[in-house]
Amino acid sequence: MITHGQFRGATLTVDLRAVMANYRLLRSRLGASALCAGVIKADAYGLGASHVARALFADGCRHFFVAHFDEGLALRPDLPRAAATFVLHGLPRGAERDCAETALVPVLNSLEQAEAWAACARKLGRPLPAVIQLDSGMNRLGLPAKDAAILAETHARSGVFDLRYIMSHLACADQPAHDANAFQLAAFRRLAALFPDVPCSLSNSSGIFLGPAYHFTLARPGAALYGINPTPAEANPMQRVVRLTAKVIQSRDVQPGDCTGYGWTYRASRAMRLATLSIGYADGFHRAWGDGGAVFFEGMRLPVVGRVSMDSIVIDASAVAPGRLGPGSDVEVIGDDQSVDDLAAAAGTIGYEVLTGLGSRYRRIYLGAEETMPSAVLEGSLP
Ligand SMILES: *Cc1c(COP(=O)(O)O)cnc(C)c1O
Repeated sequence: MITHGQFRGATLTVDLRAVMANYRLLRSRLGASALCAGVIKADAYGLGASHVARALFADGCRHFFVAHFDEGLALRPDLPRAAATFVLHGLPRGAERDCAETALVPVLNSLEQAEAWAACARKLGRPLPAVIQLDSGMNRLGLPAKDAAILAETHARSGVFDLRYIMSHLACADQPAHDANAFQLAAFRRLAALFPDVPCSLSNSSGIFLGPAYHFTLARPGAALYGINPTPAEANPMQRVVRLTAKVIQSRDVQPGDCTGYGWTYRASRAMRLATLSIGYADGFHRAWGDGGAVFFEGMRLPVVGRVSMDSIVIDASAVAPGRLGPGSDVEVIGDDQSVDDLAAAAGTIGYEVLTGLGSRYRRIYLGAEETMPSAVLEGSLP
């Protein structure tokens, strides 16, 4: 019988056991005083939010962050009521009533969002859960100091919100020596003091490694859970989560002077053996990896030659002994020989962009799925 997916050209393997191990490592860094959330926005950085949420929940995670209200809605079947799901962008205008019915918790980023949520609470006659995001210097999302003071006066004291956390976000946490870290920490402390007794949340993955002063009550790692190095200047303390392999679909011998790919940008200077792989920019294999990027086979680095096509790339497989690599062979794009951070660096980008840009055509394998939350636990999932 033919099963859909059986003949896919490339395979993305997500190791949920490694996600769980990374979660435990971050928790141990935080010690006993701080909780550890899981940031699963953008489909858990492209890896599958439903699988990741279940894995993290099985490991004790009870706080989840998504960016969009819709992402939170989509995850309701995967998360029991015992889990809190926070919506980083807050609510689109008009979504307040729907949100109040779902038990998702909006992050309020502006006076306008706070007003709308407060109006909804008054209409329903009950306090509504909320997180308030304060801007401590990134100037991206959250209330600036003067609006924070207004909100503290009007709403926080009126009892209209069930305030869960005060949060802010670090702009330069991956650069421990950057002045912005201490600056934002001090600004956050000042602003958070406007909301006495409300627990605080500041750190993303890298922030956790800046030390206990940055931990507060709840940390919000995303990238490190997925194996991206939160301490780029040092060795990666996280386990590898992703393995990406692409299949050889054809191989050929070329002579000096022969060209390959669109634009004939690559011309062979010697006799070479080329292999064509079933992965291209439509799958998130960036065009920037053409001529300079590489893949790996049995530990050997095989450079990409010529331009990246939509569905395929061509590699120089001359280094492989004849007969060892041919149609059907799996070649490693991300794995033990090339981390997601290595691959990203080769295109002048970051692992975050590589993971979230992975395409939808892969055969996806989840390792350790049987150890994640059994479906019986889900009977009490969100409405
Ligand atoms: C994405 C995001 C995070 C997670 O950041 P990582 O660097 O992936 O750990 C935490 N907080 C906010 C506000 C975010 O937008």
